[in-house]
Amino acid sequence: MNIAVLTSGGDAPGMNAAVRAVVRSAESLGHQVYGVKDGYKGLIEDDLVLLDHQSVSGMLSTGGTFLGTARVPEFHEPEYQKKAIDNLKKRNVEALITIGGDGTYRGAMDLSKLGMKVIGLPGTIDNDIAGTDYTIGFSTAVETIVSAIDKLRDTSQSHQRCSIVEVMGRSCGDLALFAGICGGAEFIITPENPVKKEDIIETLKQHKEKGRRHAIIVVTEHVFDVHALANEITEASGFASRATVLGYIQRGGHPDSEDRILGSRMGAYAIELLHDGIHGVCVGIRDSQMIHMPFANVVGFPRPKNPLYKLYKKIA
Ligand code: ATP
Repeated sequence: MNIAVLTSGGDAPGMNAAVRAVVRSAESLGHQVYGVKDGYKGLIEDDLVLLDHQSVSGMLSTGGTFLGTARVPEFHEPEYQKKAIDNLKKRNVEALITIGGDGTYRGAMDLSKLGMKVIGLPGTIDNDIAGTDYTIGFSTAVETIVSAIDKLRDTSQSHQRCSIVEVMGRSCGDLALFAGICGGAEFIITPENPVKKEDIIETLKQHKEKGRRHAIIVVTEHVFDVHALANEITEASGFASRATVLGYIQRGGHPDSEDRILGSRMGAYAIELLHDGIHGVCVGIRDSQMIHMPFANVVGFPRPKNPLYKLYKKIA
């Protein structure tokens, strides 16, 4: 079988580990793999390269995606999706593995409906995909955020400040939740766990009265204007506050061991599924086991609120 693999949407550490596992496990079963450059853009433009054992050597430990990624709005149109399938057919590519987030899954589901054999792997730092406990890249991004919180705590403690740290995640607060717990944050504010500004200010006033020297607030992007929040906290609570927006630094860096293993397991599992004639599904990890389910059971479904919020409430 000729199989194509692409990475799409935001890059995530561990995507390269997944591509490497796709290539090597496919080869071991006698299949051939094409790498598609820049996500769905490469499918439309027929920009594919043949990959082999050697061409993915050294990729396991690298961040980003060596295949490249892109946001391709025109891929919503059936006309471009059909063109993509025609390009794959020209090369006798029978199956496609897509690695990306929710948008990538939507594109993959459309291709599957048009008759392409597709497997989706969850690759995004946001952990915002239903149908999996973890996405490729999430663990490394949490590590990056925790390291930033640890550094901010040092300076906050020295200056008696409240540090507000804005992290990525869009509609999913898992990055803030996991990093907030690991960084000992006083407040974790996410779409799933909204907190009123007045309550933050009141609590910080009490902290100040008790002589606490610093506080850390971790906030998911778009929940608050963090710079305005810092000003309000400074004025109303007496706790001098500064906001730090971590931004794209959260996407970069070498994948940690969790993401190397998760990417490798998911890449190899995708090939196992195709080898067994299974497609039209996306892969996940549930209770440490590889699972798969139809795209329709995952796309558009929200993730349930993470049980770790209960832990955070007990120990904050
Ligand atoms: P991340 O969560 O890291 O942002 P993502 O996969 O959700 O990753 P998007 O930019 O939303 O990132 O989607 C990636 C690509 O998938 C888009 O650029 C587009 O080409 C394709 N795509 C997104 N939504 C759809 C859709 N509804 N139908 C077809 N293709 C889509």
